Amino acid sequence: MIRIIAALLFISSASFAQHGYWQQHASYQMEIDMDATKHQFTGKQKLVYTNNSPDTLTKVFYHLYFNAFQPGSMMDVRSRTIRDADPRVADRISKLKPEEIGYHKINKLTQDGMPLKFHVQGTVLEVDLAKPILPGAKAEFLMDFNSQVPLQVRRSGRDNAQGVDYSMTQWYPKMAEYDYEGWHSDPYVGREFYGVWGDFDVKISIDKKYVLGGTGYLQNSNEIGHGYATPGVEAKQLLGEKLTWHFVAPQVHDFAWAADPDYVHHTTQVPDGPTLHFLYLTDTTGNWLRLQNEFTGAFTLMNETFGKYPYKQFSVIQGGDGGMEYPMATLITSGRNYGGLLSVTVHEALHNWYYGVLATNESKYPWMDEGFTSYAQDYVLNAIGKNPVGNPHANDIQRLAELHKNGVEEPLTTHADHYQTNYCYGISSYVQGSVFLMQLEYIVGKEAFWKGMKRYFNEWKFKHPTPNDFLRVMEKTSGLELNWFMDLWVGTTQYIDYSIEEIEKEKKGRTVIELKRVGQLPMPLDIKVVDKDGNITWYYIPVGLMRGEKPGEEGQINRVVLPDWEWTNPTYEIDIDQKKRKIERITIDPSNRLADLNNLNGVYPFPK
Ligand SMILES: [Zn+2]
Repeated sequence: MIRIIAALLFISSASFAQHGYWQQHASYQMEIDMDATKHQFTGKQKLVYTNNSPDTLTKVFYHLYFNAFQPGSMMDVRSRTIRDADPRVADRISKLKPEEIGYHKINKLTQDGMPLKFHVQGTVLEVDLAKPILPGAKAEFLMDFNSQVPLQVRRSGRDNAQGVDYSMTQWYPKMAEYDYEGWHSDPYVGREFYGVWGDFDVKISIDKKYVLGGTGYLQNSNEIGHGYATPGVEAKQLLGEKLTWHFVAPQVHDFAWAADPDYVHHTTQVPDGPTLHFLYLTDTTGNWLRLQNEFTGAFTLMNETFGKYPYKQFSVIQGGDGGMEYPMATLITSGRNYGGLLSVTVHEALHNWYYGVLATNESKYPWMDEGFTSYAQDYVLNAIGKNPVGNPHANDIQRLAELHKNGVEEPLTTHADHYQTNYCYGISSYVQGSVFLMQLEYIVGKEAFWKGMKRYFNEWKFKHPTPNDFLRVMEKTSGLELNWFMDLWVGTTQYIDYSIEEIEKEKKGRTVIELKRVGQLPMPLDIKVVDKDGNITWYYIPVGLMRGEKPGEEGQINRVVLPDWEWTNPTYEIDIDQKKRKIERITIDPSNRLADLNNLNGVYPFPK
């Protein structure tokens, strides 16, 4: 009897756990004391780490990102040897002087009170545990460290090109993620991140003159002032040279902040959404004021379209060297035209969906955070723009075609750090990742696609979804089999190209259109045929691998669903059930969503 009950309990808990899904948990408490004259700080970190894996851990790894900013580091060498260096980095790390480098020095580390043996290997701290952490068990790590903030080279650092004093990102010893694939202790060479879900309680003591912004809710706003105090409340005049800013951030996988004495600080409120904070240096263009208004409106659209942003706050902060996403915040540079400022803000904010809340392993799947974010960015900018177009992603196809022409493609399965060129990494992650979604929308149809996007957000928020987790949601929502598409789009460099080969006006007394699959990657086809009398017929050819059909989409009134095109067949004939029908025009995918790398051969009359 007991046995049966135990078995039933096991089954019910397993079904809640998304097919055995588990993730580690990290709860950080940090006390940081900043010396802003030397750009150094001391830190005390208490990390309660919960091993939710089924494995016994005998080691742990921390990222020590600041160590990347030292001459001879992996990031430095990588930047000086890659074919097309990022100009922001180039050889700048190799020229940093001792007072300009970054470092983390670990002075003391204990596990549940027991001293630990550890070893620093570049940007990775390798720790042998004093006692294994069993499945389901917790360990408390106490660390004393001191750090120097590097001169800003890439993302984090002091004194960026626009004069922001501190861009404090990837700035503390951070536990590496351990998941179903084991440890991901990736050394920092400049690209993507992956962190443990948890919460942060951070106290930062710094000279009174500084204004801070970042991840987390300020706990002592009335003590701090600087635009944070409750309206009408005078900030308490505290004694001493420094203020201690106390932030708490629940359910995040990273914590970032920035500080400058000259930040202007404004807030706006998204109706039924977060408070938005804007922190920036004096701006004479008026762009930042205009941004506050329009971005607040955009945020409502983002909530409605992609799922509800789950935090009470989001901060847009001037800092860093471009635009970079952090939980509940972004650091972006100023000095852009208004369109550029809005665009980068929308992009980085949308990362709080595709990175912040849906925390994919960015190093392994940069196309899932950069690509999905770029797709959402195009969507939002188009929707709030003056002249919305039907397909705001269409330009991406041209950029993919250029990559293909240049012959430097690598499959999307390439780990972000290991792309051979920055160019291919950029196009693959941002463009090909975005076009992945455009292809899915084309394959399953708009309705199922948008349902799937929201379902993905709701089922996988605060977790680490993989490509297959996303695809399964889309399969369940659309009722179609889609793995063939992802396998080829992500795992190979195969591309899409279909052509209209010929129109045989009277093959056996009928009109026949012959199509050819020129590229290797098979796709379903929407084909619009207009005859000389102006009659329109839509032909739809599913790929057999889909095991189903997309329903007709808006505007496809006279639609004929044709038999499957099996992928092994290089050609396909559309037999138009009509004698001597005079065809005026044929277009493969007039919506321009199909990422056909050569559009010219997909229309009739054939272009001269
Ligand atoms: Zn991005």
